[in-house]
Amino acid sequence: MEAATAATAAMVWFRKGLRVHDNPALDAARRGAGRLYPVFVLDPLYLRPDPAAASPGSARAGVARVRFLLESLGDLDARLRRLGSRLLLLRARDDDVADAVCAALKDWNIDKLCFESDTEPYALARDKKVTDFAMASGIEVFAPVSHTLFVPAEIINKNGGRPPLTYQSFIAIAGEPPEPVLEEYSELPPVGDTGEYELLLVPTVEELGYGDISQEEIPPFRGGETEALRRMKESLQDKEWVAKFEKPKGDPSAFLKPATTVLSPYLKFGCLSSRYFYHCIQDVYRSVRKYTKPPVSLTGQLLWRDFFYTVSFGTPNFDQMKGNKICKQIPWSENEELFVAWRDGRTGYPWIDAIMIQLRKWGWMHHLARHSVACFLTRGDLFIHWEKGRDVFDRLLIDSDWAINNGNWLWLSCSSFFYQYHRIYSPVTFGKKYDPNGNYIRHFIPVLKDMPREYIYEPWTAPLSIQKKAKCIIGKDYPKPVVDHETASKECRKRMGEAYASSRLDSNPSKVKPSNLSRRKMSHGDQDASNSSVAKLLKTSRSE
Ligand SMILES: Cc1cc2nc3c(=O)[nH]c(=O)nc-3n(C[C@H](O)[C@H](O)[C@H](O)COP(=O)(O)OP(=O)(O)OC[C@H]3O[C@@H](n4cnc5c(N)ncnc54)[C@H](O)[C@@H]3O)c2cc1C
Repeated sequence: MEAATAATAAMVWFRKGLRVHDNPALDAARRGAGRLYPVFVLDPLYLRPDPAAASPGSARAGVARVRFLLESLGDLDARLRRLGSRLLLLRARDDDVADAVCAALKDWNIDKLCFESDTEPYALARDKKVTDFAMASGIEVFAPVSHTLFVPAEIINKNGGRPPLTYQSFIAIAGEPPEPVLEEYSELPPVGDTGEYELLLVPTVEELGYGDISQEEIPPFRGGETEALRRMKESLQDKEWVAKFEKPKGDPSAFLKPATTVLSPYLKFGCLSSRYFYHCIQDVYRSVRKYTKPPVSLTGQLLWRDFFYTVSFGTPNFDQMKGNKICKQIPWSENEELFVAWRDGRTGYPWIDAIMIQLRKWGWMHHLARHSVACFLTRGDLFIHWEKGRDVFDRLLIDSDWAINNGNWLWLSCSSFFYQYHRIYSPVTFGKKYDPNGNYIRHFIPVLKDMPREYIYEPWTAPLSIQKKAKCIIGKDYPKPVVDHETASKECRKRMGEAYASSRLDSNPSKVKPSNLSRRKMSHGDQDASNSSVAKLLKTSRSE
């Protein structure tokens, strides 16, 4: 460690980046500091139970994510304490996180403020407020980018001021990411005097007022850096699995041992550094003869993450249809009843409902399961706005991430990036291909657990005698399908065709050939490599 100046007080302000490893903000704060203030501000809007919400949780986050965050904070505190420090938990002032940080900067006479840069619109506004205050008070501010592999602004600059809109063009510009900070600390500078401040202990969800949550509602993923590193090591231990990793292959119905790493919640909160993860995967690649390549490989997944971060950072109104230049303008329907049935896992399609129940209980589902329900809500069956589905995911996912979530909803609704709207996931045959016995459905929808295998994906087709024997009467114990998939998907294709035709007409009236539009691939540039793999998958589940 650099020679410490007793007088120098540094604050490292944690928000995401809830880790000690590869944390450039923490690293910069500790260097030369006589006193170190590791701060996290609890935001009541994020944590306070909202009795009006559709499922347990606050207005912003489902209880699974609230719990994950608290576990991550507890773990961070424990890891800091092992280094002679601790986490200083503060309460937001009048629900304002920035005000609490500004007050502490002033009251503790901080000389240097370090925090990880964050590109989400909410974070940019919050951080500007704190940065302006710090600069005006003569406090040095250091805000490195370490949530992503690359610096989104740099990629955009290299691309002539615009974000690359295809994965291939992104990769061509990005190159290799910077190396992570690999130094392991034996100690951190002592925590400075906090005066009259009330320092909070990490609360439990029960202490926050969530009451007793039954065991089956608790997701099997524990928050925190310790678990993130353990989980990553466990995944990378199987070198052959890493070398052969190929998405979108993999079983979306595997829930006891998921087909992918389930590191997304740890990356979301920064319990795991994406650069460190990338670095460790490269180590595995160096030790094997052959391995898959982006976009399908494991490093390819991390590059998808950075791709969406970069596009979202450089696209005004990325999180909405209106005013978003890369988003197709589609006249989505409004139907609250259908939307609520989808949200609450009551569509009558067990594959769709099981996924939505897994979302509500665990806050995590496999990528292709997310594909299925996003397609069903939007261009596949219900023709409901992707922003409504995005909001549900945004609240309930434990890995909920502004850039990635919006990017994938734009993709799945064929509003941007992917345009083959005639390819629709069947809510019956797609899941059946992976899990013919319906074990996934039986687990998440116990009322269907005794439904015979031949009816588990379409229980409404079971004769009444079978329904009685399975103790599940369709229309009473489990809903009838809210739409007929064949009819609904046909109608959706027609409406998407019309919307695409009218957007072509708007942008280039002279070149339109309406008869051909529904089959045409429309792309922003190079056809994305993974489009073809997704298309291959969908071929087997096309319902036309
Ligand atoms: C409609 C929809 C919404 C989604 N919303 C989110 C979200 O809010 N947060 C989120 O992290 N992922 C989201 N995804 C992407 C993807 O489904 C998850 O990242 C992935 O399933 C997480 O599981 P994993 O960690 O086991 O992934 P792995 O396959 O093990 O991949 C490793 C990491 O790569 C990144 N990654 C993987 N797939 C993608 C992808 N398609 N786009 C961007 N990054 C990716 C994730 O950080 C992931 O943890 C969404 C996908 C869809 C279809």
